[in-house]
Formats: sequence, C-alpha cells, structure tokens
Amino acid sequence: MKILLSSLIFVVFVTISSNYAYAIDYTYPTINQRLTETPTYCAVESISDKISLSQMNEMMDKSQIAVNTWKEKLQDSELINKDFWDIKFKKIGKNESVSDDCTITILFRDDPEFSGSLLSKTLGAFMRSSIYIYYENQESIYGEKWMDGILKTTIHEMGHTFGLGHYTTDDNDYNRKIVTRNESPPSIMFAPAHINPDLRMITEIDVQKVRSIYGSYGFHAFSEQRPSEIIIENPISPLDPTYPFEFTEISKNTVKLFRHQDTMMTISGQINNAVYMSGHPVYILITNPDLSVDVLKVKPTRNGFFETYLNFNYKSIPGKHSIEFAYIDKIDQSKNLIFDVEQTDIPLPSKSENLNIVQVNNNAEQFF
Ligand SMILES: [Zn+2]
Repeated sequence: MKILLSSLIFVVFVTISSNYAYAIDYTYPTINQRLTETPTYCAVESISDKISLSQMNEMMDKSQIAVNTWKEKLQDSELINKDFWDIKFKKIGKNESVSDDCTITILFRDDPEFSGSLLSKTLGAFMRSSIYIYYENQESIYGEKWMDGILKTTIHEMGHTFGLGHYTTDDNDYNRKIVTRNESPPSIMFAPAHINPDLRMITEIDVQKVRSIYGSYGFHAFSEQRPSEIIIENPISPLDPTYPFEFTEISKNTVKLFRHQDTMMTISGQINNAVYMSGHPVYILITNPDLSVDVLKVKPTRNGFFETYLNFNYKSIPGKHSIEFAYIDKIDQSKNLIFDVEQTDIPLPSKSENLNIVQVNNNAEQFF
C-alpha cells in the first residue's frame, strides 16, 4: 500500500510539474585567475604575412576598443573611486619587444593548434597572461562580420582575465536557442557564443560579477600597493580563489568511434570536504570541436563524489573536446580536462566485451 501511494504521488507530481515550464537553472562561475594590479593590456602586432597591414591595424584598434569598453562599463558602475577600475592599453609594434608593464598581452594568430590552443576552431583563448585571437577562424565563422567577431572575442577573453568563467544554463536546447535568436544573450561570457557577434555584449550581470570578484577596492584588491589614503567604510571583500575539487577524472583520453557500436566515457570527480554543501549540483561544461557546448548537471553523493557518462556513436564529432567543472559557481581551471575523439577502422571488440558495453550504454542513456 505504501508503495502504491508513493508511486501515485509520484505520478501526480510529474503531471503537475509538466504542466508548467520548468525552471531553468544557470551557473555563472568565477575561475581562479585574478589581476593583482591596475592592468595594462598590450596588443602585439603579428609578424605573420597572412594578414595585411590595414587589417592588422584594424585588429589593433578593435583590441583598444575592447579595453575601453570594459573600462567604461566598470567605471560607470563605480560612484566615487573610478580610478580603482582603470585599465590601460598599449600597442606593441612588430619590431618592438613586450615591455615589463604589460599585464596581459593580446596576440593575433592564424592557426590555433599551432599556437597553443587545443581546439582547432576556437575564436580566441586565454592562456598564461595572454589573450590569443585566431583571425582565420573569425573569418571562417563570422564571415564579413569577422572584425566585430574579433572585438567581441577580445571582450569575452578579457572577462576570463578578470576571473570570469562561462555563463550557461542547464538546458542544452535552451542554450542553442539563445545563441540563434535575434536578441543579446544574458552575458558576454555566455557559452556557446552567439552566432551574430553584433549581439554579444557586456551586460549588467557581467559588470556585477567582476565587482563581486574584486570588491570595493577594484583592481587594487589583490595588490600589495592598495592606496592607503582612501578609506572605504565597510568595504566589500574580494573573492579569493577557491579549489572546489580534489580531483576530476575521465575514463579515457581518447574516444574511438566505431560504426556499429557506441563508446562510453565516464566523467567523475571528488568535491573538497571544506567546500562541499549538500544540495548543490556539479556543472560540467563540454566544448565540442565545432564550438557547440553540452552542459551536464550532476548530483554528487553525500561524500562529495560525482560521476556521469558520455556516450559516443559514429555520428559524434571527431577532434579535441574540453571539459570545465563548476561547483557553487566556482571553477579551479587546473581541473579542466581534454579528450580526443577519433574516427577509426579498427575491428570491433570481441562479442563478450561488446555485450558488456551495450549493457552499460543503456544506463548511460538517462544521463546524456
Ligand atoms: Zn570563454
């Protein structure tokens, strides 16, 4: 009777909730990157002969506009100490060397894989104090709007240099809708990126997120030389970097695609004891080689362990995939992972192995 009653309640609950549009959850995590001084962004002219001088100049100008756009947005949000949100910009000619005062360099490259990026179609990347802009991909993805693509990508990558992660919802269909509709996404950090660069903009949510990382002293927050003459009563504290995961893991680094059989990969991890709070999911954001994004929302156990599955078939996209893990809006980017998907003609595994995989695949369906 008890079982019957609870299954009855379950049925009623499901019926009621399906009558309403269910709530879409989103995450807007911070990463562990921090600026520790008033930053100077240095755009460095490329020595490549694949780009004309006038196009190179235009790209340099776009990076200056990107810097000024953030500076204005952040300073507009500050009533008194506007200098706390100062951002400097400098152009470095192709024959000049990068000077010591450059906090972040903006570099222009043709081939992403050749210049350090793991994803071949990527528009831009932020790695080790440098923003990379891949102009050939901008051209092939954004067409005639590629210069605006460069501007918006630079603004987006600057967001990472401040410590912003990607804004995304837990609904993959909704994410795809957002980036194709004729309306600005809720954040410049929205992943995936909007198909029209004109619509990618810094929003109030973005500005407030940067302010929440640095607090009342702006870019002086993590600096040794905070201006002592300015006293703020009840200042908002900055957000120190957090390390939400003990480890993150995937069952294989290379996924081989077979024509008549699915391949499964396990993604798992352990949340640090000190950070674990019951009731919060882990967001797993997978960026595919075509720059589409899949989000998985996983419920950890009471011990802080989490595990989920990805299923691949012959239609899966070959190439490099990257994974980010967010917990309670925090990312430790050292826990990001990469895996490769390869097409293969290798013969299928033996029948017994085969059965085994098919069985697990059935379980995996519900997660993916
Ligand atoms: Zn990004």
